[in-house]
Amino acid sequence: MCQVLKLSKKEVSTIETKDAILGLRNRLNMSQDEFAEKLFVTRQAVSRWENGDTIPNTDTLKLIAKTFNISVDQLLGYPAGLCQSCGMTLEHDSDKGTEQDGSKSEEFCAFCYQRGNFTQDITMEEIIELNLQALDEWNKAAGLQLTEQEARIQLQQFLPTLKRWRAVSASENI
Ligand SMILES: [Zn+2]
Repeated sequence: MCQVLKLSKKEVSTIETKDAILGLRNRLNMSQDEFAEKLFVTRQAVSRWENGDTIPNTDTLKLIAKTFNISVDQLLGYPAGLCQSCGMTLEHDSDKGTEQDGSKSEEFCAFCYQRGNFTQDITMEEIIELNLQALDEWNKAAGLQLTEQEARIQLQQFLPTLKRWRAVSASENI
């Protein structure tokens, strides 16, 4: 199957993030106002995260994790089977890449990762553009009507939370 079509399922992860934030706030038994105050953001920002209108950026995710003493991974509750490079869901074994020893990777998809290495020297920007080519499919699958610009912003916020790109931005800071 073509890579671009498979990528169109990534909307799933947006839902996971918003549920993770709502779940965390409920566990802490805090109102949106109290939660926002701790993070020095507005209540509207919290509301938008929980509605899935926006995804907190990487810095904010780190701040949430630090403030409430949990890991970013825990916060996002990464569902098993989300490619940590392109964000597509790994539903079947055939979707999964392979480790050096030939075993299935639980972290990366078959397009991104084979035999323990990334298959393409692709940048995050290129993955965003690939995704945008499938915007119509994505809108249809998710029941959304995002413009290209809105979708690009969501991807620019979402992809840096994946392991492959978090590692890149961490090494750039050194
Ligand atoms: Zn992938």
